[in-house]
Amino acid sequence: MNKRIIVAGSGFAGLWAVISAQRAIALANQEQNIEVIMISPTPNLTIRPRLYEQSLENMNPDISALLDAVGATYISGTVENIDENAQSITIKKSNNQQEILNYDRFILATGSRAFIPPISGLAEYAFSVSDLANAEKLDQHLNDLVNQPYSKARNTVIVVGGGLTGLETVTEIPERLRKILGTEQELRIILVDTSPEIAIAMGHEAATVIQSALTELAVESIADTRVLSLDGNGVTLSNGETIESNTIIWTAGMRANPLTAQISGEKDNLGRILGDSFLHAPSSKNIFVTGDTVKVATDDLGHFNVMSCQHAMSLGRVAGHNAAAELVGLPLHPYSQPKYVTCLDLGAWGALYTEGWDRKVCVTRAEGKKIKQEINTIWIYPPAPDRDAAFAVANPDFVIVP
Ligand SMILES: Cc1cc2nc3c(=O)[nH]c(=O)nc-3n(C[C@H](O)[C@H](O)[C@H](O)COP(=O)(O)OP(=O)(O)OC[C@H]3O[C@@H](n4cnc5c(N)ncnc54)[C@H](O)[C@@H]3O)c2cc1C
Repeated sequence: MNKRIIVAGSGFAGLWAVISAQRAIALANQEQNIEVIMISPTPNLTIRPRLYEQSLENMNPDISALLDAVGATYISGTVENIDENAQSITIKKSNNQQEILNYDRFILATGSRAFIPPISGLAEYAFSVSDLANAEKLDQHLNDLVNQPYSKARNTVIVVGGGLTGLETVTEIPERLRKILGTEQELRIILVDTSPEIAIAMGHEAATVIQSALTELAVESIADTRVLSLDGNGVTLSNGETIESNTIIWTAGMRANPLTAQISGEKDNLGRILGDSFLHAPSSKNIFVTGDTVKVATDDLGHFNVMSCQHAMSLGRVAGHNAAAELVGLPLHPYSQPKYVTCLDLGAWGALYTEGWDRKVCVTRAEGKKIKQEINTIWIYPPAPDRDAAFAVANPDFVIVP
């Protein structure tokens, strides 16, 4: 092997970058000359879009056999430092030893994490569904509520943030909590958001559907309101209200992984690096940025990728292909993903499926739920550990949309 591509991250973008790079290398018959290495803490793809669900089974599939099947090398560790000039990274391996690795191409696919602003009590007391460890902590906490004596605080759950994650989380809670506490219990499930009207960022048509789903599920909505402080017993809001609750779930905002700060070039307000259409980082032609770490145009009409699995899977394929293509002399592939859909789970109400950036409502309720379940249990899961089958869906223009 005389050339090396390193991919940091085993999420949606990282996994598809590795498969797509191996595919391009195989197309050029260069497997003996170029190695592709994936680095991440564990060889798993965490299915983050499902972490709001009631059961956390099969949320972290093992991808070791798949990486073997496509001929990639896996190293368990965390990237700590990126040296753009030396074309090297420093990793901390799982045995705590540091190692410096040189690369010919580096792909940053380390995703995003919850944004925790400096609100009193937030870091200490709020729950989150942004990553598996936090989703498991919330699950344990909810299941333990049954062991506490009745109180208003025990029976009240507050979800802060009315974006897609907050909506999916809050609409799942009524059924989830009833299963734990019993159907005869009086519950208060509350959604708090700063926008003037709940879900209005989705457009009027979708917002109307979402608001009626919340009403049907008996979820209380508090709009135009900020959280001022919280503790283990409740929350104080900017509208002057104090609400007793032992369970406050923070879903208001994500930020790109902090490694983006080590790559020079412009960032957006979420910390994402502004990539070119081939997903090069602005600073260096040998670094690619992908998934939740990049901001890039999806079309010629002024739309950009959002932090989503929908975009990360395509962005990963394009970054992996282009990193390998530069080394083997294949044409580069520009990123383009003009079709945009949203499928929003709304708990026992069903799901809302929209198309386009103006979120035209297409399918609702049980029919929408069927689409959501197919996305969440089939489409976003890794392919079987079969080289040819994985390569068949790893070309850079392959897009999965309903
Ligand atoms: C509750 C919830 C619901 C969501 N719902 C949807 C939805 O309905 N539809 C949708 O499209 N998207 C949804 N998303 C967003 C989606 O999950 C993310 O946009 C997607 O996971 C981004 O993929 P990624 O590969 O860029 O990053 P990630 O999936 O975050 O993967 C990042 C990888 O990098 C690794 N890593 C991190 N730091 C390092 C390091 N220093 N060194 C090495 N490896 C590192 C991590 O371990 C992980 O393997 C949801 C997210 C959440 C949390």
